Amino acid sequence: MKFPLSVRFAHPGHGWPGQGERAKEHGLAEGEVYVIRSLEVGRSSSSFKLAGVDGEFNTVLFDAVYDEMDDEFPATVRGGHALVVEFGDEELIATCLCGVPLGTGTPLTSLDEFALPWERHVITRSQP
Ligand SMILES: [Zn+2]
Repeated sequence: MKFPLSVRFAHPGHGWPGQGERAKEHGLAEGEVYVIRSLEVGRSSSSFKLAGVDGEFNTVLFDAVYDEMDDEFPATVRGGHALVVEFGDEELIATCLCGVPLGTGTPLTSLDEFALPWERHVITRSQP
C-alpha cells in the first residue's frame, strides 16, 4: 500500500444526516479524488482530513483509491509531492506534502531556496 492514500468522495448520502451536504459546503465535489492528510479513528465514526480542504469528513463518504496515485506527475497535490511552505515561529518551514522536511528559513528567505531540495526530492523520491 502506498502513502499518501487518496480517496474518492463517492457516497455523499452515507453517514449521519447532513454530513455529505456539509462536505459539499467545504468544497468537496462528488466523484473527485482527494489526498488524505490524516485519519482520526473513533469509536462510532472515523474521519479524514484532506489535503487542501478544511474540516474533517466521515470516512464512509469515501471510496479508497489505490491505483490512481499520479505517478506520472508526482510533483502535484494528487501525486502526493507538492511543496508546502508554512510560517512557523518566526521562520519559514518547508516540507513536501508527503512529509519529507525540506529546510527552514527566515521570513526574508527567498522561496527559491526550497525549490531545489524539493525538486531533488521529487526526482529521487527519497522517503521520510
Ligand atoms: Zn514528497
